[in-house]
Amino acid sequence: MTRYILAIDQGTTSSRAMIFDDQGAVVATCQQEITQYFPEDGWVEHDGMEIIRTVIDTVAAALKKLPDGETIAAVGITNQRETTLIWDRKTGEPIHRAIVWQDRRTADLCRQLKQDGHEESIRDKTGLLLDPYFSASKIKWILDHVEGVRRRAEQGELAFGTLDSFILWHLTGGRVHATDVTNASRTLLFNIRDMAWDPELIRLFDIPEALLPEVHACDHHFGDVPAELFGQKMAITGIAGDQQAALIGQDCLEPGQIKATYGTGGFIMMNTGDQIISSQNRLLTTVAYQMGGQVAYALEGSFFSAGSAIQWLRDGLGIIDSAADCEALARSIDSTGGVYMVPAFTGLGAPHWTPEARGTLFGLTRATGKAEIVRAALESVAFQTADLLAAMAQDANISFDILKVDGGMVVNQWLLQFLADILQLEVIRPRVSETTAYGVALIAGLGAGLYDRVNKMSIFYRYHSVASVKVVAEDTVLQKNNWNNAVRSTCYYSDR
Ligand code: ADP
Repeated sequence: MTRYILAIDQGTTSSRAMIFDDQGAVVATCQQEITQYFPEDGWVEHDGMEIIRTVIDTVAAALKKLPDGETIAAVGITNQRETTLIWDRKTGEPIHRAIVWQDRRTADLCRQLKQDGHEESIRDKTGLLLDPYFSASKIKWILDHVEGVRRRAEQGELAFGTLDSFILWHLTGGRVHATDVTNASRTLLFNIRDMAWDPELIRLFDIPEALLPEVHACDHHFGDVPAELFGQKMAITGIAGDQQAALIGQDCLEPGQIKATYGTGGFIMMNTGDQIISSQNRLLTTVAYQMGGQVAYALEGSFFSAGSAIQWLRDGLGIIDSAADCEALARSIDSTGGVYMVPAFTGLGAPHWTPEARGTLFGLTRATGKAEIVRAALESVAFQTADLLAAMAQDANISFDILKVDGGMVVNQWLLQFLADILQLEVIRPRVSETTAYGVALIAGLGAGLYDRVNKMSIFYRYHSVASVKVVAEDTVLQKNNWNNAVRSTCYYSDR
């Protein structure tokens, strides 16, 4: 008998439902875009009820693709992290649009808290930086700006949640208000040492405790979807934030294992096992997962521009027709001829953290053509990765031998080879490219008892392609030096 797992992947730009069989093969994928609202400069919002509609529609469509008479053994939910919603416990309706992780409206509040000297203790308790990115300042903003909300929150009429919580609430008919440890660890309110909401932080952000969901392990039995909704009762037995789910989907279950996701930006996460490593390079420390009774932590770093540099070449400069053109152009030349691109369109992320930096191109000559510029953009993804991995290796005091990659850019085999050479690491692309949905399906399977131990999850991992190192380390030194000089010059220029 085959057992099927449903994964709900609620992302920043779309909601997706996928069904996997118990060998990890994809049986169904359905996806719907969601509307992005930009009410003011730097603000980004989503409509909570539109998200619920897209989740329900995509799940219903995916379930139609199940073989006749088959049922779902477990449901997992993974989500865009940090995005903040407050809703009415009676009606399930949001009292304000969701404030999305990218939203910068609480920058002043975070700056003030930093000036008041709170960052060190917040870092120590949560592993995060005091930044608008995380949920706490967004919750406070809604409480302070929507009339009557604070009083109603204090009276226990309202609920806060990240999108996993909100979806869980709706799929269980309003019976369950809960989240998992990975999502909780991105709120700035969760103490990753005690693995519990932190009373001091709740007070600091002035948030009524009655708003907060219960927090459980990722593989907890969170609740059941009643049969009325989709024609069969289904158990929700897995929840994790998107990057953590991808870490699990990439089978990074051992300390030192590392994955990189290359979409619009680059997101790198390393499993550090039971060790909470405090970064000296302004990387984040976060909960990787709690499952099978085990807690694992992670170091996380991201850079803002990966695929977005390619989008700019296509939509801004118009020198390529589609992202797929990049690979042939990069292969058409032996080198960029000394051209380097620092794609700091929206500043530089970890480990440089120069938000005011802007993008630069170095080394242009009359021989520079579009191939050189396209190749320089692709190369910048590898150099940014190298900078992050060096920071992680230093913080964790280890060296890596494999990098597992996913995301929309990794169809580019030239990029994978360049990554392998610059990083001097084997680069692996998995068979299931939707690692986020796949990861939470694995968690849900564990939660439902489809396999009995966390390490049994590894047997489902298959890779699609590998790029092995083809050049010696010495041959990359000059390029890395040139890149470092380009980054230094970019930061110097922004500082003037
Ligand atoms: P997100 O989840 O952030 O929306 P995706 O994981 O869907 O992003 O990846 C899309 C990104 O991948 C786009 O920025 C696009 O420019 C880039 N991309 C797609 N195909 C290629 C390719 N062949 N080479 C390089 N970049 C590509």
